[in-house]
Amino acid sequence: MQALLDHARSFHRNPGRDADTLRALAAGQSPEAMVISCSDSRVVPALITGAGPGEVFELRNAGNIVPPPGSGAPSGEAATIEYALQVLGVRDVVVCGHSHCGAMDALASGSDLSGLPGVEAWLSLVRPALTPYLTPCVGTRPGTEARLERIVQRNIVHQLAVLGSYPAARRLMNAGELRLHGWYYRVETGALLELGDDGTFEAR
Ligand SMILES: [Zn+2]
Repeated sequence: MQALLDHARSFHRNPGRDADTLRALAAGQSPEAMVISCSDSRVVPALITGAGPGEVFELRNAGNIVPPPGSGAPSGEAATIEYALQVLGVRDVVVCGHSHCGAMDALASGSDLSGLPGVEAWLSLVRPALTPYLTPCVGTRPGTEARLERIVQRNIVHQLAVLGSYPAARRLMNAGELRLHGWYYRVETGALLELGDDGTFEAR
């Protein structure tokens, strides 16, 4: 922790963070994109995209999950999405999943989550949509990386669909003003696979 603390304390003294640059950020933000990613410490959207302060609006949680809109319950995810689309005017949104995802692996492996009620409740949001992919099929045996990759990628596609069901997102998409992107990040290589129109993820 000490190294992290030391870095935070000297952050404002690093190159590129002179007083004028930092002061300009106080005038407001106009991020180019919103990235919805897993909280996993190995996946750092700003680092992957090379973004500096003010350039990427991040929403992170376990499993990069977008709760359905309109549940009535207070939702940090819903608030963040609304603010990005309706206040900041963000017009590109990325849902970024990743290899070796603990949240998706818990679903894939059928882990006993009775000791983690918060995780269990959270993952219940996505379990029904992913159930068809949780059944092992040819070439994707339980516990294999390929199987988990498939589940993570289907989760990304599902979360994009949920995101598109938010009223603000639907309005913008109907007007052709919102672009949704699916990214799959490989932790072990740093490679980025992008979701194409054909529903597959490939390096482009
Ligand atoms: Zn994850």
